[in-house]
Amino acid sequence: MGQSVFYLKQSDLPKQWYNIQADLPAPLYPPINPATGKPISPDDLSPIFPKGVIEQEMTQERWIDIPEPVREILKIWRPSPLVRAVNLEKALNTPAKIFYKDESLSPAGSHKPNTAVAQAYYNKIEGVKRISTETGAGQWGSALAFATNLFGLQCTVYMVRVSYEQKPYRRTLMHLWNGEVFSSPTDKTDAGRAVRAKTPDTLGSLGIAISEAVEDAAKHPDTKYSLGSVLNHVIMHQTITGLEAKLQFEMAGVEPDILIGCAGGGSNVAGFIFPFVPEKLAGKKIQFIATEPTACPTLTKGPFRYDYGDTACLTPLMKMYTLGHNFIPSGIHAGGLRYHGMSPLVSLLCNQKLIEARAYSQNPVFEAARLFAQTERVIPAPETAHAIKAVVDEAVRCRETGEEKTIGFLLSGHGHFDLYSYDKYMENALEDYEHPDEAIKKSISELPDIDYSIE
Ligand SMILES: *Cc1c(COP(=O)(O)O)cnc(C)c1O
Repeated sequence: MGQSVFYLKQSDLPKQWYNIQADLPAPLYPPINPATGKPISPDDLSPIFPKGVIEQEMTQERWIDIPEPVREILKIWRPSPLVRAVNLEKALNTPAKIFYKDESLSPAGSHKPNTAVAQAYYNKIEGVKRISTETGAGQWGSALAFATNLFGLQCTVYMVRVSYEQKPYRRTLMHLWNGEVFSSPTDKTDAGRAVRAKTPDTLGSLGIAISEAVEDAAKHPDTKYSLGSVLNHVIMHQTITGLEAKLQFEMAGVEPDILIGCAGGGSNVAGFIFPFVPEKLAGKKIQFIATEPTACPTLTKGPFRYDYGDTACLTPLMKMYTLGHNFIPSGIHAGGLRYHGMSPLVSLLCNQKLIEARAYSQNPVFEAARLFAQTERVIPAPETAHAIKAVVDEAVRCRETGEEKTIGFLLSGHGHFDLYSYDKYMENALEDYEHPDEAIKKSISELPDIDYSIE
């Protein structure tokens, strides 16, 4: 029995973020301004983002200093522990060693505050008064409300309707941290009103909520917009997890063979994996796996194409794996994995075959989550459970082959606000939904006809 937990001292908290843009195996396609067909300039972004964030989005510097005020706040819960899942190993009777980096211990219960704190800081020092954003399951909205509240900023959250109704307690968190929360689509923005007129019964989607939040920021000079995933700066802020984990694997005396994370917009899996990418590029054998739902199979079924980040086509075009900006996912219980697009950095590395992608349906995912809850101390978020499913599969494979691999995964969040989904699972009421190929074909056929050559 027991767990082995690897703690770092607060003084070990990384002083710099890692920027993979310095080490990419192929050039990154730039975001394109849809009006000009040309790469966007920093000025194009300045109505919606603070300068500090725009700089980080574009920089090629390998190491970026973490400002001291940001480090001080991160120390509320960081460094987070790396835990060896001894009981899960025993239950699976596997020779594999399984480790998880526990991001469920943050105040909002996920990895998302890692970037929320940094983004709130850059807005604060540039005199911004309010930040607008979207949220799916409510994880990002609550992380940003937590961070803005610490810096004395206001926060407006457009929350996807289906989650607004399914996850009332995340709303409570946002309210407690002084955020205002609206069920998206709202009647407060042109984008929201347009969707409500066309499809009054819509479940909402992240694409729609992003349109609303971006419009809000663009129309109010004291307001900027903030995104909780997908973009380069967000992923850079999340590398704190992989950088800490590197030190902790050393403490544990192991070298990981497989690293796994679930992928919604790509930030948690990228933050965990990216600091290990240079070793793989230098020839080390290490496998990276990103997991997603069959209900939103962006990496496994989407094309690698330029697309908008939102439904109203307000954002720049990004080259990424995408199901099309008009994609509306079904109401599955992993709200954080329902985005049509994917981080351009994660997309590039998948396209270069450095990261593999796997898709799972809900029941096997929740089965893996229940096994984890019964053997380890954490009830994982349904999003995280997609990573755990791959971990279990790999550990079982090791049992069959006798390989003693070391598997690491990012426990991106706890599921304390997702118990409704667990109830549905235990009542056998979860559908193993696979998004129909016909529907994917249709939303892909609506992709903008734009390409850009970097040769
Ligand atoms: C938001 C979220 C995700 C998915 O977002 P990424 O940007 O892909 O990390 C995964 N797990 C949890 C717990 C989340 O809150």
